[in-house]
Amino acid sequence: MEIEIATIGGYEEVGRQMTAVRAGDNVVIFDMGLNLSKVLIHDNVETERMHSLDLIDMGAIPDDRVMSDIEGDVQAIVPTHGHLDHIGAISKLAHRYDAPIVATPFTIELVKQQIESEEKFGVQNDLIKMEAGSMRDIGDECELEFVNVTHSIIDAINPVLHTPEGSVVYGLDKRMDHNPVLGDPIDMDRFREISREGEGVLCYIEDCTNASKKGKTPSETVAREQLRDVMYSLEDYDGGIVATTFSSHIARVTSLVEFAKDIGRQPVLLGRSMEKYSGTAERLGFAEFPDDLGMYGHRKSVDRTFKRIMEEGKEDYLPIVTGHQGEPRAMLTRMARGETPYELDEGDKVIFSARVIPEPTNEGQRYQAETLLGMQGARIYDDIHVSGHLNQEGHYQMLDALQPKNLIPAHQDMKGFAPYVDLARNQGYEIGRDLHITENGNTIQLTE
Ligand SMILES: [Zn+2]
Repeated sequence: MEIEIATIGGYEEVGRQMTAVRAGDNVVIFDMGLNLSKVLIHDNVETERMHSLDLIDMGAIPDDRVMSDIEGDVQAIVPTHGHLDHIGAISKLAHRYDAPIVATPFTIELVKQQIESEEKFGVQNDLIKMEAGSMRDIGDECELEFVNVTHSIIDAINPVLHTPEGSVVYGLDKRMDHNPVLGDPIDMDRFREISREGEGVLCYIEDCTNASKKGKTPSETVAREQLRDVMYSLEDYDGGIVATTFSSHIARVTSLVEFAKDIGRQPVLLGRSMEKYSGTAERLGFAEFPDDLGMYGHRKSVDRTFKRIMEEGKEDYLPIVTGHQGEPRAMLTRMARGETPYELDEGDKVIFSARVIPEPTNEGQRYQAETLLGMQGARIYDDIHVSGHLNQEGHYQMLDALQPKNLIPAHQDMKGFAPYVDLARNQGYEIGRDLHITENGNTIQLTE
């Protein structure tokens, strides 16, 4: 059977991930993501109303025109998890394919919300929920399997396409967490089994994000303990404490909520995406929050809440807000500019349970937000975070578990691929033979 891989997006950048695997006449698409930084660099771009060709020209969504060179029928579109760089282009591209969108329940719910907010295209693809650990037929000879992995969002999987020529494992995005705060540990046993089944692993497509970092990525439990340490140390502070983190990082939000209660403060989630992700996780039963936890997204209800906090006393509350990257329209940035009823006083604490995404736009915006907060006297607690991606030893362990015959580095640009390429070459892979360094819009024929 012919196996061919089309590397469509996310091979020259972090963002707009999209890869297609053809096995004979059947094609499966993995991810359809958005490169948000290409959108944010323009003022006031509302992607909901934009045409896909314009977004392709901006570099915001994958240029999927290479799909017309792929001779086969798309059987499924499979987003691996709910981050925007993996699902953000579904509302712009999926309607062009006569195939269902297959994903885990939390991811499907986020895809559904995104399709509902789309204003240009009517996306009618069926949405099919498939749990981690289960399988589904693709044509007569192939099967799609979801292997549970751990990442900075719940319900993440690595999809595996089992073909008569061996398995294709799509490895975006994960870290190896054997003690996650929410959900099950990464299923390393299953990866090892897959390498021993049938023809073994024909190809592994890997997320190179942290390939330059030594050692192992710490577990979410480590970030949780750091957060506990910081928050307990502030138990006696009788002024304002504000925290921010990735809205989609449900495990982190639950830790913040829990420790707020521990130190005698009422947590409250503020900002549109805080309400969206945590509300969805609670509704689907992925997270349990206290009954009295308020979640407010709309500007008016947020400002009303801030007013109430100021009247009743800041020392009794812990607002958990959007804006960890200093995004101009997010809640923390509005607070920094003095645009909300919440007033910061000298010595008030701001906890960033996040790391600045190393990208000039983010770095500039975050610098600005922090400076404005500092001018109001705020004390900053930064970097209370662990990465959601594998470091070097995780990459080594994955190669050891899977023993793949071919490797395709992904989720980076050329510079980002380099440390992974070094690691792979040290393990005996050779560029041009079984180590395929590629760019957006290419195809790689693995078997004839
Ligand atoms: Zn991700």
